[in-house]
Amino acid sequence: MIRVGVVGAAGRMGRAVAHAVVADPDLSLVAAVDPSHAGLVVEGITIAGALDALTDARADVAVEFTGPQAGPANISWCIEHAIHVVSGTTGFEVDPAWATQRDVGVFIAPNFAIGAVLMQRFAEEAVRFLPDAEIIELHHQDKPDAPSGTAMATARRMAAARGPAPAEGGEERVPGARGADVEGIRVHSVRLPGLVAHQAVTLGGQGQTLTIRHDSTDWTSFMPGVVMAVKAVASRPGLTVGLDELLGSA
Ligand code: NAP
Repeated sequence: MIRVGVVGAAGRMGRAVAHAVVADPDLSLVAAVDPSHAGLVVEGITIAGALDALTDARADVAVEFTGPQAGPANISWCIEHAIHVVSGTTGFEVDPAWATQRDVGVFIAPNFAIGAVLMQRFAEEAVRFLPDAEIIELHHQDKPDAPSGTAMATARRMAAARGPAPAEGGEERVPGARGADVEGIRVHSVRLPGLVAHQAVTLGGQGQTLTIRHDSTDWTSFMPGVVMAVKAVASRPGLTVGLDELLGSA
């Protein structure tokens, strides 16, 4: 039985993770942490205000979905306290020290939805034949960062796969009209109520377009990937980035 603590337990992802942990016969929910929501109860566990709850409950793995300020500090705390950590928080840079330590498994993924990982793989393959490509990512209005971590990762993989960027024509009459430039790939970020997490990669060629689209229509879409990472992280000391690592290719 893997003892799991959830950090950011009162949030959208934290609540979904707590539910997924309780539903899995190989996992046990032993702690929940979320400083400004201490005292609330999630899946039968009272939310604590400090990370000490993880050590007090002898958690083997912490699952961390918070925000770009809190995420790196939480991951470093888990490493210092020998607790394996799975983080899906986006919008921060990876600390190189996480990769050089070998005592603790650190698993980070900008997107835990298996369909989104496949979308990135297919886009990486397609751009080799159709090098003119743009990304539109669409998320709920509260998402704190833009472009999304998934869009950034997709653009970087596509840019590496296609080589030099094709020439662009035209001028922006309004700054930003053509979207962000991520290593030569245009990325457009939409934020609206009613959305969860969506991304379309559209590639253009002579007389044709190809669109590869993934939609997370519910927060539970991320849970099979999170559970997979929780079960794998202890056997992967050091840093692992991306669910692709667990799906048979990288
Ligand atoms: P959310 O609903 O705002 O939940 C985040 C929770 O973390 C909030 O309850 C927040 O409290 C809490 N928090 C803030 N600082 C904390 C700290 N130092 N320690 C513990 N908890 C803390 O956000 P969400 O939609 O669940 O998303 C969380 C993160 O996951 C974001 O970075 C998002 O982009 C990312 N995400 C990743 C994936 C993926 O597949 N990798 C999927 C969806 C979302 P307050 O209410 O006080 O802020």
